[in-house]
Amino acid sequence: MEGSLEVLESQHSIAMFRTLDTAGPLASSLPPTLVWGGRMNGNPGEVFHGIGSVPVLKKGDKYPYFKKVETFLQRFGYLDRAQHPSQGVLTEEVSDALERYQKLHALSVTGEFDEETRAQMTTSRCGMADPGSSLTYVTVCPWDRTNLTFSFTSGTSDVLGDEEFGAVRNAFETWALSTPLTFTEVSAGSNPDIAVGWHPTIAYDHDMTGDVVAHSDNPPDCSILDFGPPQPLHFDNGEQYWAIGEEPGAYDVESVALHEIGHLIGLDHSSNPAAVMFSQLNPNSIRRSLWPDDLIGALTLYPFQP
Ligand SMILES: [Zn+2]
Ligand SMILES: [Zn+2]
Repeated sequence: MEGSLEVLESQHSIAMFRTLDTAGPLASSLPPTLVWGGRMNGNPGEVFHGIGSVPVLKKGDKYPYFKKVETFLQRFGYLDRAQHPSQGVLTEEVSDALERYQKLHALSVTGEFDEETRAQMTTSRCGMADPGSSLTYVTVCPWDRTNLTFSFTSGTSDVLGDEEFGAVRNAFETWALSTPLTFTEVSAGSNPDIAVGWHPTIAYDHDMTGDVVAHSDNPPDCSILDFGPPQPLHFDNGEQYWAIGEEPGAYDVESVALHEIGHLIGLDHSSNPAAVMFSQLNPNSIRRSLWPDDLIGALTLYPFQP
């Protein structure tokens, strides 16, 4: 862990970067090869603002602001909000939830709120909930066909011209090249299967406040947001800054799109830190290639016909 976790900047984030250079397909079993970077945000409006300042806690420990951690675990599907309301106590149930979180993120499984877990929770992440536990890819459900359409509804002024659209097209192409899926761009009025756009942080279908950089949904048969067609691929155009490629403090559009399209075709989060479907990503980094874990997951949903 890096040493700056106690530092809460008033406005700007301190970005440090996870290096995945040495991570192979079995990266989840090789945590020592990863250098983690916690991205600390001090924006007052953040849902998870404050997790970085919660001290290390063991089972049975109490701390008022530990409620922030409990809320995080509830939001991302590790803890049932109704059964375990936040109390600021690291109970047995919370410890179990922490274990599931640690397992899925290839951390040491301690069931405690330790430094490693705190750093992971303060790293930028995708807004979709994580599955209970799995060591590789996770599938939800496929579309009932492989010829899908998409359209753009809005862009971002963070990048020059229409380059953000090109980056999203590249991401669709990357999935199409390795699977039986095709993605055809159509006009917004042509009832697309997927609508791509940059939205305010708090929009009608999802609240991306905090370290959530983008969100999407699963195929219609296993839709989570359930707003009906088209399925969303929405980027946070409020709190986040977008770029084409690596840029300090900004997210690479193509890398984020590649991940969200994975959800849109029916994949959930993988625990493999090298996979596109790993839930966390960092600014100033690129992850534009599918990992075997991602591909096998996609081909399980959409096998090539002989
Ligand atoms: Zn995700
Ligand atoms: Zn949305």
